[in-house]
Amino acid sequence: MKNSKDLSIFTDEYKKHLSKYVLSGGDDEVLYEAYQQLIVFLDESTAQAANLLDIHSRALRDILGVKNDNDMVQWIYIQRATEFLLQILIATDALLLSLRENIERDPLTGVYNRIGIDRILSKMWKASAEKNVPLTVAMVDIDDFKLVNDTYGHVVGDELLQEISSLIKRSLREGDAVLRFGGEEFLILLPKADTEGAKIPLERIRGQIENRVFTKKNIKVTISVGAASYPDDRPLSPEELIEFADKALYQAKERGKNVIVFYGELSEPYK
Ligand code: GH3
Ligand code: MG
Ligand code: MG
Repeated sequence: MKNSKDLSIFTDEYKKHLSKYVLSGGDDEVLYEAYQQLIVFLDESTAQAANLLDIHSRALRDILGVKNDNDMVQWIYIQRATEFLLQILIATDALLLSLRENIERDPLTGVYNRIGIDRILSKMWKASAEKNVPLTVAMVDIDDFKLVNDTYGHVVGDELLQEISSLIKRSLREGDAVLRFGGEEFLILLPKADTEGAKIPLERIRGQIENRVFTKKNIKVTISVGAASYPDDRPLSPEELIEFADKALYQAKERGKNVIVFYGELSEPYK
């Protein structure tokens, strides 16, 4: 019941704005006000963009029924109403785009989150496989991060995460990507880099972090990195590429942290 009530509230609201626009002669301000309010309404109610055409047609029929003008005047109304609908659809589209952009971003660091990873990595994987070019995935984990939180508190821990992610972002070349995989873990995607090619940027990042201090507390930290490459390590899927990088990261921790380990260096990598 709530649903149909919801929809009728949206329909009434739509009709109110459409009629104001049509009868005002297509006033921009009326349109602007309409899409500010209707888009929020659309976001909150069960009405969807797919219902819009139907709601629009019914609202227009009502408006024309009320106004018993001649055919010519009605035709002008219809033209304005079509323009109104078009603008509303454009605004809806923009809203969807911005929602998608927000949903893929980690609010703390602004880099892509797990949702973004799925889309971006699949795309890179596909491009690599099609063009037969390499792709390296590196899993970065901040060493002893829990100690930072325990010593300085979570707010400083958060700042450290922000600074580390922007340092990584700055030191990558165009086309590369950094994403937040989990708490203090980041994924670096290096398209066109094989195992050898990836060593250079990854070593640069590891070294820069080791040689800097972070936050107002001048904290020193290091990172451990596990990396795997397509096709060098023969992963069968993007998920497997991540899994291999994760295994290599585990080994980097075992080797005493602050190092980069490639999957191919593991003693029995292909088991
Ligand atoms: P290791 O060197 O083995 O990686 O040790 P570690 O302390 O870095 O790893 P551990 O997994 O024990 O701790 C990770 C910590 O990261 C624990 C968790 O509270 C913290 N953490 C996860 N997400 C966030 C976050 O968004 N903000 C802050 N401040 N801390 C976070
Ligand atoms: Mg971790
Ligand atoms: Mg850690």
